Amino acid sequence: MDIRSRLGLRPVINVSGTMTGLGASSVGAAVIDSVAEILPQFVEIDDLQRKASAAIAQACGSESGYVTASCSAAITLSIAAAMTGDDLGLIERLPDTTGLRNEVVVQTGHLVNYGAPVDQAIRLAGARIVPVGAATEAHDYQLASAIGERTAAALYVVSHHTVQYGMIPLEAFIEVAHAKGVPVIVDAASEYDLTRFIAAGADLALYSAHKFLGGLTAGIVAGKKPLVRAAYFQNGGIGRGMKVGKEGIVGAIAALEQWRTRDHAAVRATERSYLTLWRETLNRQQGVWAEIEADPTGNPLDRLKLHIDPNQARITAWDLADALARPQGDDAPVIVRDHEAELNFFYLDPCNLHAGEEQVVLARIVGELDRALASPEPLVTPFHKRDARRIAARRAWPD
Ligand SMILES: *Cc1c(COP(=O)(O)O)cnc(C)c1O
Repeated sequence: MDIRSRLGLRPVINVSGTMTGLGASSVGAAVIDSVAEILPQFVEIDDLQRKASAAIAQACGSESGYVTASCSAAITLSIAAAMTGDDLGLIERLPDTTGLRNEVVVQTGHLVNYGAPVDQAIRLAGARIVPVGAATEAHDYQLASAIGERTAAALYVVSHHTVQYGMIPLEAFIEVAHAKGVPVIVDAASEYDLTRFIAAGADLALYSAHKFLGGLTAGIVAGKKPLVRAAYFQNGGIGRGMKVGKEGIVGAIAALEQWRTRDHAAVRATERSYLTLWRETLNRQQGVWAEIEADPTGNPLDRLKLHIDPNQARITAWDLADALARPQGDDAPVIVRDHEAELNFFYLDPCNLHAGEEQVVLARIVGELDRALASPEPLVTPFHKRDARRIAARRAWPD
């Protein structure tokens, strides 16, 4: 029996991507086996992290690395490292940063929320944010003038959440920061490319082990040895509350190995077959226009963009997304990628589907669209009430 049924939970079909709120990713058999093997055993964690360092160095082309609780923890601990170095006294003094270089420059268009605000992950270490540029525009000279005597680090965020134009390109960002002697930390939580940021000169590149890599929940820090060491030492300070266990470290090592040996072309072909099936079928529905779109940050991953014309479909993109997520009867909730739904579209992300679910997704969407067409009243709720409705639903937890 599916553990979800045993716990009284509904199975969920995830066409939204790698979401913490849905259980991140599907962990592969090889990773599960490795984790199951280590769980009953004792091991010297410093040695295990040495092995993780070697595995990360090989995968990322970096000098070294270590595993922490999450990419969010990796941001906090990397910033801490940039402020304290390997001084154990300073490490225990955080988040009091009196007298330390404690400013972190970040482009304003990079100040995203990935489930929590990125600026909070920085402030948690005791650092202060210095935003660079405007929301949709930043320049090298603004970065240069934002860097001063108190600058500890420069953070660069790579994400579909960031503003995708008008930002300082990574190469220029690194050039300006390095010219001022400031280390560059790249938040690459969701990026498939493990070597690009280190190769471009980043001092640290940070990844989530539980996103595309399919590991247990953990964060991967890759980069220059002194900074990685200083970040690792934060485990004796503010990192204690963000600690990863042996299972997370082994899970990350196994996930990197699984990623190295994965048949990426075959996975891509399977995803492409789902996208084509959905596009061909959904383009025959009234008021729907579907197209395949490339990932905005350049990951080798495409998604189906589903535009909904509410006048013709008699339902809005957000009402359709909500109906899919809250089905009547025994149907599984289908969670789509809808953070831009107010623009009358959402995405279907194929990267976390189990075989066969592509048909369920399609049937559910067609079913909801047909229901809307047959309904006496259009299924159109005001968008401005949606956020309040969702927040009210969350506030009721645990009831
Ligand atoms: C997911 C994400 C994070 C947080 O990663 P966790 O490992 O889940 O803490 C940070 N930054 C970006 C850009 C992300 O997409």
